[in-house]
Amino acid sequence: MLQIARGTYIGKVGTDLLLLRCEFGNGNTNRPERISGDIFRGISLANFNPMLPDVEAFHGSFYSLGALQSASDGKGFVGTGVLLTNPEQSISIKVHQAGDSPKSKLRIQLTTTNTLSPQAYEGDLNFWMTALRALTYEIDAVASPGTATLIWGIMQDVAENYRKAGVTLQHASSQDSIGAVAGGEESEWDEGELLGAMEDNFSRYAEIAQQPAWRAYLLATPWFRGERATAGPYTTGIMFDVRDRVQRRGAAVFWRARERSSGLDNFRRDFIRTATHELGHVFNLVHPFAADDSSDCSSRSCMNYPSRYPGKDQAYWPAYEGAPLCFSDRELDHLYHNRLESVVMGWYRFTDPPGRSQDIANHLKPVKVTGLELKLRTRPERLLFEFGEPINIEAKLSLRGPQFKSAPQSQPVPDALNPSLGTTTYLIEKPNGHVVRFQPAVRRDVESRSCELNASRPAIYENINLTYGANGFVFTEPGKYRIQALLSWQGAFLASEPLTIGVRFPDRQIERGVMEGWNDETGAYLAVWGIPQRTDRVLGHLQRLEKCKIYRGKAHPLYREAMRCSYYVSLKPARIIDNRNGEPRVKVRRAGISKDEQAFLEEDLLGIGKQHKKRAASQTLPNLLYSNLALAYARFDPDRSAELLQAVEQMHSSNNHHKRIAPLELSALQAKFESLG
Ligand SMILES: [Zn+2]
Repeated sequence: MLQIARGTYIGKVGTDLLLLRCEFGNGNTNRPERISGDIFRGISLANFNPMLPDVEAFHGSFYSLGALQSASDGKGFVGTGVLLTNPEQSISIKVHQAGDSPKSKLRIQLTTTNTLSPQAYEGDLNFWMTALRALTYEIDAVASPGTATLIWGIMQDVAENYRKAGVTLQHASSQDSIGAVAGGEESEWDEGELLGAMEDNFSRYAEIAQQPAWRAYLLATPWFRGERATAGPYTTGIMFDVRDRVQRRGAAVFWRARERSSGLDNFRRDFIRTATHELGHVFNLVHPFAADDSSDCSSRSCMNYPSRYPGKDQAYWPAYEGAPLCFSDRELDHLYHNRLESVVMGWYRFTDPPGRSQDIANHLKPVKVTGLELKLRTRPERLLFEFGEPINIEAKLSLRGPQFKSAPQSQPVPDALNPSLGTTTYLIEKPNGHVVRFQPAVRRDVESRSCELNASRPAIYENINLTYGANGFVFTEPGKYRIQALLSWQGAFLASEPLTIGVRFPDRQIERGVMEGWNDETGAYLAVWGIPQRTDRVLGHLQRLEKCKIYRGKAHPLYREAMRCSYYVSLKPARIIDNRNGEPRVKVRRAGISKDEQAFLEEDLLGIGKQHKKRAASQTLPNLLYSNLALAYARFDPDRSAELLQAVEQMHSSNNHHKRIAPLELSALQAKFESLG
């Protein structure tokens, strides 16, 4: 309808500064024309950097509601809007175009309709850019020069996808290319290493290190930890940025994993989708199929998984017919018009606060699907946890019912009980009765993750750590909690019986120790199993807990968990990107541990193995951390490796109570052990 160019405008409105996004000229899409804006107070145009929004000066965002009406002279429009921070308050918007060209200056009048103190603003806005959002990004690829060039070419297509969607992706470096990182073309990267690489990258920019900015770092590495020697399914992308309150600035894509999942023919197409998807998460877009009432698998959006789309890959890709990858209407609304804090990198945490469905209070009633059962329990069984203790539970998905007992049928199920994969969510009812959805700190993208349950494999298990999520520590008060798992899958919905656990009332010493230890630095450290540069600080926060003797003279479990993480990062070879000579290379930093630390580990790891043999363990069992720590230690001390591998096997096999499950084979463990190097 309007002759005004689509894009972003900027200028002074009264004493405020306004950034106005005009979504016009939507062509043949059925999106209505909309505008939205961000208001900044007490900052001059000269001092304003749109790519680095000033948190102190930010005053609020608004968004137009309903259709915009053309002005009577055809040179502008009127409409009404709403303040996103205060939806009660509406504003009237009047825009008049000064010149004849589509990019001419706009005269804008805003009037808040708050009856007590209506405020009016008026000013001129100049055209700034054709995009509605812009992001400066950087990419490093751990790959051979040839592959790095290929990945760079693919990123051009990703940028083109975003450009067509109205978002500019601009490469940060002066020379327009990828940072090729040599050495480690088959390396596996864990969350802590990715975090380290991102921190090194951002630390070069003091001005944006600790504040929101339209800036992201994408890392293309070959594999996610522990997956290279496996048959899949593989993690193809990850949001690993759990550091503290400055989040959503980094994402990683695993190019070897993508290559092996897709095959060479589809590698390029699928890599474009994965990279577009991960950058979507950086803008705070979530999966359309997240397990709740608004679950939508039929979206063609690149935020969906082709394997979730009705008809899967074979239907998903032809639906595009050469058109660029797209976002859904709801996703575009978010990208273009949502409040600044929830879109810009480094401000609100992932998915905060436009929480999806708030209506989760009706859950906690188990929902059964014929033939399948989802169950939560503590392993080994226990009811009470110490105040501050890490909460690890076990999720089990199994075949059930008479038809299984009489004639075992094979049933395909999603092999994805971990909250980081998004298929299964966990609801936690707090002692005061409030129900919250656990928001995992790290999100992984693993496509087509399914397996068969049958007579020889009647159940799958997963160790679920609910201690710390994107919203901080979860079990923060003593009392009774109920935990429920919800699995949404191919239109079916399965909910477990709630698991009830208690958190003990602490004595004063424990209470003080836990309060000192509970902070984002500790939480992020535990969530990624240790960050080498943070060990001293985190153990410093937990000092008091070291002296709280609880289990047979052992320190508080939160302290012990942090110790395990610190040993894990000390024992395993850590990958860093060494950029000192201007030619970035992957370096493997080896470290060791002291005799005292070895004594702690042997008691801890071999002790747990023995307890599991006797099935009389009294401690929590963080399966994955324990077993990976044991593997790392076995490699460090070859004399003990046979004993340690056996201990790990015991931990695993005692978990597979069902007699028909083959115990974890030593050969598989050995393969994982070898791949650690
Ligand atoms: Zn994703």
